[in-house]
Amino acid sequence: MQGDTLGPSYIIQMYNPKHNVWAATVIDNIKRGPGKGGIRMTGTVGVEEVSRLARAMTLKCAMADLPFGGAKSGITVDPKTISKEAKREIVTWFGESLRMYAPKYYISAPDINMAEEEMRWFVEGHGDPKAITGKPKDLGGLPHELGSTGFGVAHSARMALDSKGISVTGATIAIEGYGNVGVFAHKFLEEMGANIVAVSDSRGAIYDASGLKHSELLATKQSKGSVTEHGTGEKIEGKKIFELDVDVLIPAALPDVINKSNVENIKAKIIVEGANISIVSECVEELHRRGVLVIPDFVANAGGVISSYAEHVGYDEKKMFELVKEKIEKSVKAMLERSKKTGEIPRSAAEAIALERLG
Ligand code: NAD
Repeated sequence: MQGDTLGPSYIIQMYNPKHNVWAATVIDNIKRGPGKGGIRMTGTVGVEEVSRLARAMTLKCAMADLPFGGAKSGITVDPKTISKEAKREIVTWFGESLRMYAPKYYISAPDINMAEEEMRWFVEGHGDPKAITGKPKDLGGLPHELGSTGFGVAHSARMALDSKGISVTGATIAIEGYGNVGVFAHKFLEEMGANIVAVSDSRGAIYDASGLKHSELLATKQSKGSVTEHGTGEKIEGKKIFELDVDVLIPAALPDVINKSNVENIKAKIIVEGANISIVSECVEELHRRGVLVIPDFVANAGGVISSYAEHVGYDEKKMFELVKEKIEKSVKAMLERSKKTGEIPRSAAEAIALERLG
């Protein structure tokens, strides 16, 4: 791993002898405030992955103009291989281990395999609820489950449509992935009047030109386990979702899903990256040349970290949603204006803005 002038500032490695589990926290940059970033618990996460994610958080927080730096944590264990009690002990130990860094230099949050219950366990070990966000309501939290990231993705899509002179009312949308980001992007875009014509999950995709209703599709997902079991529409192969002729494509699940094998077949006018690194870097330029407007991940999916900031300063749900909307609008506007002025692709324009703020 090679650092640069931005960071990382601290690489903290921890070991739990009872459970034989390693963990790492990388605090990439604290120039603008304590490093912000969630805890990922998987069997494969290591310092390298945590460092890359911590850097992404540095840029995301600077772009959203939050008084936070960037950080991330990883606990290297597959939660499916341990009991709930063991998971609780590990997360509690992890919170305790970070007492000397959090919340002064690091403020944690949920990431993969972590939700509000785990945030409670972290506080039990650490002692200070200010050291973490995404907590349950009774601990002063604004849980992840309010859908702030999907809300920000929906507003990014609306801004992108505006910039192309397309009304959000009736705009056609395809969403890859039906988890936290995908479900709420669907809900909030539907409320704006958009027509969500396709949604996928790990089992395939469903397409319906007349529109998929959020409440109905969510009920299908919850009762039958997959969007592909929905009664209406046509079941299509999961990867076909990337090639549909829609106004907006929202990748909201896996990395690298738009790559050399399918970039030529992309017909969407706009791509809003709900998921992180959904487009391989070599394809970003090509999409731009072809006139596809890409709203990059660290701009489009910043709603989650903006909500974390709202929680940190004690906002209620209503004020949190207002702040997400305001900040996402500002970021998308600043990025598009700069890109128009300098000719840089939007991602590079946004990176330049973030780097100026970190300079
Ligand atoms: P999640 O675990 O809630 O949902 C993931 C979804 O992806 C599930 O519906 C799953 O079925 C689907 N999926 C898995 N394999 C798939 C496949 N092959 N094809 C289509 N769908 C597939 O995750 P999430 O919180 O919604 O996060 C999604 C992405 O967004 C991740 O990259 C995450 O890092 C990123 N992100 C999330 C947030 C947030 O606040 N949730 C914030 C920033 C970035």
